[in-house]
Amino acid sequence: MTADADPISSRLQDLQTIDSRIRQARERVASFDPPLREVVESAEELAAEADATAKRVQDLRLEERRLCRSAEDKRARMSRLEDRLDNVRTVQQEEAVQTELGMLRRVVDSEEQDVVNLLDQIERLGERMEAQQSASEEARAAVEPRRKELLAERAAAQSELDALAQRREEAASAVDPRFRRVYENLARGGRRAAVAPMTEDGACGACFSVIPLQLQNEIRTTAPLVLCEACGIIVTVPDAAEEEPEQDAEPR
Ligand SMILES: [Zn+2]
Repeated sequence: MTADADPISSRLQDLQTIDSRIRQARERVASFDPPLREVVESAEELAAEADATAKRVQDLRLEERRLCRSAEDKRARMSRLEDRLDNVRTVQQEEAVQTELGMLRRVVDSEEQDVVNLLDQIERLGERMEAQQSASEEARAAVEPRRKELLAERAAAQSELDALAQRREEAASAVDPRFRRVYENLARGGRRAAVAPMTEDGACGACFSVIPLQLQNEIRTTAPLVLCEACGIIVTVPDAAEEEPEQDAEPR
């Protein structure tokens, strides 16, 4: 019998244990994403509102500048018309110029009133924007300790994962490549178990189907690469712990 269990069995099982811990560690790292998003959510909503207000203020400023330029142009035209008034020769010419001047004045008055209204609106929106910005900053400051805590916890989980990945590399390189390839294929298929030791009474350690006697003997003696006919996983020699406890050698 195999007093010294083939190390391939324990090596494969080490690999499987590490892989399962890697899965858990990955899930743990990912588990911090939702609370991290959630914790800054309200501050980000407030910041988005402040940004929208800032955009609106910018648009209104452009509109205000456009109106100012338009009123300026019209005032320049009015000043040229007023110069012309000095040179008109007939009453009709004077009336025509006065009519145009009057029209321009009404437009300029209305544009200037629009500018005043816009400046009012810009001021009110500017105040609202500042309030939204400071609300957002306050909200951010309020959740900052919690956010830092979550980031630190995630960083710790990430370094655990990194350490496991390092250990996995070492564990994998210790496994005979033939076994490793089969193991990797089985593990990639998404199953939880890719390897299990045979039970003492000769059944697959995962699905407990009885393994043909001939194969049982081969597993115990030569430890070849054997796959369970029922569930397809690698079946290795029974765990040493399950073997009969070894008697201490009798002193000769
Ligand atoms: Zn099986």
